[in-house]
Amino acid sequence: MKYCPRCASELVLRPEGGRDRLSCSAESCTFVHFGDFSIGVGGVVVRNGRVLLIRRGHEPGRGWWQLPGGYAEHDEAIAEAVERECLEEAGVPAKVVEVLGFRHSVGGPGSIGGPSTNMYVVFRLEPDTSVEPACDQDEITGAEYWDPDELQAHERVQNLTKWAVTWAQAGSKGFSPSMRGADPTRPPWALFHV
Ligand SMILES: [Zn+2]
Repeated sequence: MKYCPRCASELVLRPEGGRDRLSCSAESCTFVHFGDFSIGVGGVVVRNGRVLLIRRGHEPGRGWWQLPGGYAEHDEAIAEAVERECLEEAGVPAKVVEVLGFRHSVGGPGSIGGPSTNMYVVFRLEPDTSVEPACDQDEITGAEYWDPDELQAHERVQNLTKWAVTWAQAGSKGFSPSMRGADPTRPPWALFHV
């Protein structure tokens, strides 16, 4: 990274928050490169005791089953991101109920979360139970409600999916969405808490 993504001025190393960081050389600009971060979302969607899984059609992990999910866009609220992914990948409209847990993985070669330092937030959602799962047969080659015991025993179900289903079955309450920024002139924000 050589140039500022906000104003295209040159970046220089400068002490910021306890270590030298690439910072914008323009006086009018406050950009500091704190690192490479991403946010993933996944949804545990349960209907009549069965859990919605999708099968990956592309690498990495082609042929493996997992929770519907993906990356939250930079300008997207995470609860909306997971609802969008459930609809896009599995054809199921679903609404966020709570956060069941999250995985934080430090980025780098071999990182399980990918090259960026990643926070993967797992939600529980309530589906529209009248809608049958459907997928595009390209990026996603399967979308089905699974018996929880079967998915725990299956070789080609991701570990994070297995853990998340266990959390959902434990029945304890997770973080609930409470406040949301409602000012249409500002980007969205949201609070989740116990
Ligand atoms: Zn700048």
